[in-house]
Amino acid sequence: MQELEVKLNDKHIKDAGYELKDRNAAKDSTQDKIQEVEEQLKEKKAELDKIINETGKEEKVLIEKSAEAKEKVDPRLLTAYERIRGSYHNGLAVVPIVRDSCGGCFNVIPPQRQSEIRQHKKIIVCEHCGRVLVDVDLHDKVKIDGK
Ligand SMILES: [Zn+2]
Repeated sequence: MQELEVKLNDKHIKDAGYELKDRNAAKDSTQDKIQEVEEQLKEKKAELDKIINETGKEEKVLIEKSAEAKEKVDPRLLTAYERIRGSYHNGLAVVPIVRDSCGGCFNVIPPQRQSEIRQHKKIIVCEHCGRVLVDVDLHDKVKIDGK
């Protein structure tokens, strides 16, 4: 009876030895993967730093241009503009008409209103979202000149 118990325990020890071997192999493979992923992360961080550095320079120029432009705008309009910009997650306060719809909220703009917008006589806002509407030609022109 005791002999049987010893044999059984030997078997358990042997099994545990195999399991330990398997787990060590799994550990090594996981450590390799961690190292690989950490290297990739390092590369991506370097890329990101480079991009942040570049866009930072561009942002600085654009902020200066924005400040210059703000001096030429009626303060009441500017306040309204800033308020609209702040209230939408994409930060767009001036949007073009796209396929007869507001480029911000995509609600349809009636033809009469579209022709008023094209006349450039007054500032017209979208009745659904409040963004300032411009025709595509003006929108693209400002974009190009703004560069
Ligand atoms: Zn809208």
